[in-house]
Amino acid sequence: MVSRSPTSVVPPSGDPHLRTLVESLLQRLREGGLRSTRQREQVVQALVETGEQHPTAEQIHATLHARGLRVSLATVYNTLESLRFIGAVSELGFPETPTRYDLNQEPHANLVCTKCGRIEDLDASALARSMRQRAQRMGYLVVRERMDVYGLCPPCRRAAGAPVHGRPGERPAR
Ligand SMILES: [Zn+2]
Repeated sequence: MVSRSPTSVVPPSGDPHLRTLVESLLQRLREGGLRSTRQREQVVQALVETGEQHPTAEQIHATLHARGLRVSLATVYNTLESLRFIGAVSELGFPETPTRYDLNQEPHANLVCTKCGRIEDLDASALARSMRQRAQRMGYLVVRERMDVYGLCPPCRRAAGAPVHGRPGERPAR
């Protein structure tokens, strides 16, 4: 259990850009028929603030608990499911590890570190466009695409003693 402290471990962000994103997601949820509750708002807020890390539901729950907020894991899951339903987040499932949530709905690839599990976005809009065109030529109606690139992130490469800007070609961890 994450211990609760009087001061937040991850303080709520005052970033106006993030605030706007939170508001627009809440608006879309309302338009989808889900009324805003304080707890749902807190889940959306925590998701937006940790979104770049592609968090798990448990990580969002832990962030909320670290702030002393009482939001159940079920509420976290339900809110994420509603966001997925309206097309505001994607679920990234991986074998044997908890599902990660991705707020970025622009075509992109996810760079996945096979050692520490870090996920970063990699711009791949041109590649996605070309894949879609080729799929369409094959008669497919493309609904979405998912692109994952696996490797070792710079800190994990450093920890393994590899020069980070050295010649590529290490064997992938799996
Ligand atoms: Zn992503």
